[in-house]
Amino acid sequence: MNHGAHDGRVEVISGVMFSGKSEELLRRLRRALIARKRVQVFKSRLDDRYAGASRLSSHDGSGIDARPITSSRDLRRLVNPETDVVGIDEVQFLDDGIVQVVEWLADRRVRVIVAGTDMDFRGRPFGAMGALMARAEVVDKLHAICVRCGEPATRNQRLIGGEPAPPEAPTVHVGGNETYEARCRRCHEVPEPGRHQTELDIEGEAAAWAERARYW
Ligand SMILES: [Zn+2]
Repeated sequence: MNHGAHDGRVEVISGVMFSGKSEELLRRLRRALIARKRVQVFKSRLDDRYAGASRLSSHDGSGIDARPITSSRDLRRLVNPETDVVGIDEVQFLDDGIVQVVEWLADRRVRVIVAGTDMDFRGRPFGAMGALMARAEVVDKLHAICVRCGEPATRNQRLIGGEPAPPEAPTVHVGGNETYEARCRRCHEVPEPGRHQTELDIEGEAAAWAERARYW
């Protein structure tokens, strides 16, 4: 595929938590800066308690400042007309409107690089990640290492009090006593729901949407 200097395009860096997505995003943005491109960097924020400056950081402590956004509308409003490259971290937390905004930017010859977790803790597509991956010119899926068996990890294991989280738990849970591990398909655990499945699906989705609405 020939990506000329003035071609707008969408690049998705997807993968499990702890797979180095943000570092890969940072690497591409640094190279764009070296090439004297005009770069804007955004990071979705879940919670207004963490308002203020945000930063994409790598393990060596270096980084690039990122502007926090809570919605696709924020992004559309904040991108400057002369920007060449837009980077967005944690894109899975943004609303579905992000797909349209990303396509709009790429059509205007902006190179859009988004990084996000592609699956939620249940192993289902997270937010708009599936739609973004389908429309992107370039998709890279990064793996972590499964903490159980050492194989490449593709799943996010959510643990609540050390136990695998039930599927009816909200997709996004801020401020809880939960932890996450990277695991492979075989070691990933989502327990059977304790009640009638259909009832739980409906309740779980409603709870997830209510949770999302709180932050978006
Ligand atoms: Zn494993």
